[in-house]
Amino acid sequence: MRIKSILCNCLYRLSQARIFKGLCLLCHQPTDADLICSWCAEELPLLDHYCYLCGTPLAGHSSICGVCIGSPPIWDRLHILADYEFPLQGLIHSLKYQRKTLAAHLLGKMLADMYEHNVEDLQRPEVILPVPLHWRRQWKRGFNQCQELARPITQRLGIPCRADILKRVRHTPVQAGLSKSERHSNLLHAFRISPHAFKHVILLDDVVTTGTTVSTLVQLLKASGCERVDVWAICRTQLRGE
Ligand SMILES: [Zn+2]
Ligand SMILES: [Zn+2]
Repeated sequence: MRIKSILCNCLYRLSQARIFKGLCLLCHQPTDADLICSWCAEELPLLDHYCYLCGTPLAGHSSICGVCIGSPPIWDRLHILADYEFPLQGLIHSLKYQRKTLAAHLLGKMLADMYEHNVEDLQRPEVILPVPLHWRRQWKRGFNQCQELARPITQRLGIPCRADILKRVRHTPVQAGLSKSERHSNLLHAFRISPHAFKHVILLDDVVTTGTTVSTLVQLLKASGCERVDVWAICRTQLRGE
């Protein structure tokens, strides 16, 4: 009788932990919250006040950094959660390489929440365009992580996602380690854009690294009639380190 009661108690605790509460995606402890426990949520190193063009943290009331005043990027706004470091780096890695699409639910939802709470922007974008993968890479991975990130944003903000506008038609080698001009020529002709009538779009990437890929896509979007392109990403690395 005692063994049965202990077993029932264990099963109950297990079910509470794994089914009814769920495990925090970061610390893997049972939590009542959605996907991430309140302790981990409070510890996230989210950017608070940053240059709205390049993501550099800013002090004071300015909204744009000195570098961007002198030499602004081709996009009109950058909306990001954090620098590319622990623990979001691990979540993005688990999404891309371990197919943990739950991480995309969390990250996309956080990006949408941040936009809703922090961005005083009366002009809501019309559509989300995920950065495309070449079909071969998408087939190998099983999904495009940017499309997965778009889903919770669409749910939260009601902005539709169109994955058919931008296509990657050439499989390009990994960009890391190449010079800026090498990266640009590498990407030239790698993308195709379908006819569309959107004027204000979100270009959604998981991590903005050197900015070359998004710059190329923003260039294409502006040439196709977009008046404003906002780049949204979970993290950024050193955008100006080119
Ligand atoms: Zn946690
Ligand atoms: Zn800046």
